[in-house]
Amino acid sequence: MNSPQRANAPLVEAEQLSKYFDLGGGQRVHAVEDVSLAVAPREIVGLVGESGSGKSTFGKTLLGLYPKSAGRVRYRGEALPGRYSPADFRRLAKKMQMIFQDPYASLNPRMTVGEIIGEGLRLHTDLPKPEINRRVAAWLDRVGLTGDHGSRYPHEFSGGQRQRIGIARALILEPEFVVCDEPVSALDVSVQAQVVNLLGELKESLGLTLLFIAHDLSMVRHVSDRMAVMYLGSLVEIGAADAVYFEPKHPYTELLVGSNPEPDPKAERARGAVEAQGEIPSPVNIPPGCRFAGRCPKVMDICRQSTPELTPLRDANRLVACHLYA
Ligand code: SF4
Repeated sequence: MNSPQRANAPLVEAEQLSKYFDLGGGQRVHAVEDVSLAVAPREIVGLVGESGSGKSTFGKTLLGLYPKSAGRVRYRGEALPGRYSPADFRRLAKKMQMIFQDPYASLNPRMTVGEIIGEGLRLHTDLPKPEINRRVAAWLDRVGLTGDHGSRYPHEFSGGQRQRIGIARALILEPEFVVCDEPVSALDVSVQAQVVNLLGELKESLGLTLLFIAHDLSMVRHVSDRMAVMYLGSLVEIGAADAVYFEPKHPYTELLVGSNPEPDPKAERARGAVEAQGEIPSPVNIPPGCRFAGRCPKVMDICRQSTPELTPLRDANRLVACHLYA
């Protein structure tokens, strides 16, 4: 079990949150297992890990897009229901939103951009149509598009523009908490920085709180206050973003940092790196003990017998789940 990990008066808090997918025949995917993570108001927490680590599933379970299997989600201290009713969705959509990974797939091709951006206001508020149109026009401008873009369709836009449309769609309801699920990984490198900078500006001007899911550690370090590292559905390390990036403690974080190219040679030398073998194993039949034991270059006998818990190091803000630090 991961130890609860709290910030002061968190805006959103997962407590031992788990999400399983039943496959039938008694088998189930342990996509998210016993994850505790608190996000403070106006904080950006970066969530990193390889594909299949459970990052997106955690984000969607946190927002109620997937019903949770166990644990709790609190919003401003209020425990949210395990399965949302339409009324819950209507109420919570104004507080919590998601920006999706794939701007190509997440926009309805039969709706105009103006209809897409204004849909949340139509569904979740009683605003009159002229006011909705006014706000849509303001948001088009705010994300760097123009008023006449509102009457066009998604296929007429580039990937970066479509993600700007996705950002406007998520933020027009003025949510406090936004899960950004790999918001730039489907974009050309040349436009990734533009979209990240736009998110940073909007975070500052709107006072947003973000969970920023990505696999590019240097980008996550750049935008995040804290970084949380997920492996096979569990958190293995949490700490200040710079500290986790430049002084990784968990062998899996060392692997991730070491495999993430760093353009600055000085920063490259400042990092530690270890070699790990193999790929992330199946989340269906998870062996006992540390989930990383099969790939860890520092594995010990105890690692295959006992599951390490997230434990504070000397710096109480850094938590690591590894027997090396027990
Ligand atoms: Fe490696 Fe053991 Fe630490 Fe797991 S608990 S990361 S196997 S040293």
